[in-house]
Amino acid sequence: MVFPNTFDKLHIGPSGNPAEAPLNEGSGAVVEWCADQGWDNFELAFVHQVYLSEKEAEKVAAASKKRGVAISCHGSYYVNMASKEKKKVDDSRSRIVQAAKRIMQAGGHSVVYHSAFNEDRDSTEVTALVVEQTKLVEAELKAKDIRVWLRPELTGKPVQHGSIEELIKVCNAVETALPCIDWAHQHARFGGGWNSYDEWCELLDKLARGIRNKNVLQRMHMHVSGIEYGPKGEKKHLPLVTSDLRYKELMQALKQAGVCGTLVVEAPRECLIEDVDRFRDAWEKA
Ligand SMILES: [Zn+2]
Repeated sequence: MVFPNTFDKLHIGPSGNPAEAPLNEGSGAVVEWCADQGWDNFELAFVHQVYLSEKEAEKVAAASKKRGVAISCHGSYYVNMASKEKKKVDDSRSRIVQAAKRIMQAGGHSVVYHSAFNEDRDSTEVTALVVEQTKLVEAELKAKDIRVWLRPELTGKPVQHGSIEELIKVCNAVETALPCIDWAHQHARFGGGWNSYDEWCELLDKLARGIRNKNVLQRMHMHVSGIEYGPKGEKKHLPLVTSDLRYKELMQALKQAGVCGTLVVEAPRECLIEDVDRFRDAWEKA
C-alpha cells in the first residue's frame, strides 16, 4: 500500500511492537500478529534508528499486502529542520529520507516526524525554514523515486513547530506533505482544551478547508493516546482509562466527517493491546 490515492476506510492499530508480539521472529511476523488480533494498521518506530533491514522490509511488505495491514513509520526524534546549526539541518533531512526509503520498501505510505523547534523565533520565520527544508526532502525523494507522504506531526508543546495553522501552511507549500494529526497532542498543547465532539468537528472542518486539493480527510494519518499535560503541554502518554481524553466523542467526530486513512494508537506498552481494542470498539460503535 504505497502512496495511496485515497483510503476507503479507517485502519486502526498500534505504534511500535506490543510486548506480546513475536519481535524475535522479525517485523514481518509482527505485522501478521497484528492482523491476527483483528487489527489493520501498524506504525514502525524508527525513532532512534531505522532498525529494519531491507530483507525484513520485504517481509513486512508481503505481510501488509497479504493481510491488508496499512504500514507507516515514525521517523527519527533527532529532527530539527530549523536548527541554527547547518549540520543538524542537513542530518535532519537525511534521517527523514532514510526512513522514507525503508518504509516504502516495507510497503508503507507515510513517514512521520516532528519538524522543528521554534527556539526564540516567531511562527512565520520558522515555518519558512520548515517549508524550505521540506521541499528539499521532497526533491531528494523524487530524485530517488521514493514515493511516500511526508507527515509533519501536530506536536504536543508550543515550543515545537507544528500547530494546525503551521501544518496547513507547510502542506499547501509542499506537494507530497500531509499532516499527521495527533489528537492527544492538540489536547495537551492547549492545556486540556480540544476535548469535545464539537471542537473536533471544527478542527476537521478547518483541515478540509485549509489544505487545498489533496482530499485530506480521505488520506488522514493520525496519532492518538491518553495523555498527561501541564502548562507547557505534553508530559507523557497515559493508558486511556486513566486519562481525560473523550475518545468516544473523537471517534464519533471522525465518523461524522467521513474520515478515511490510518489511526495509530500510541498507548504505553503495558496497555497497548487493550487501548487499540478500545479505539477499534469505539470506532465500530460511533
Ligand atoms: Zn510523534
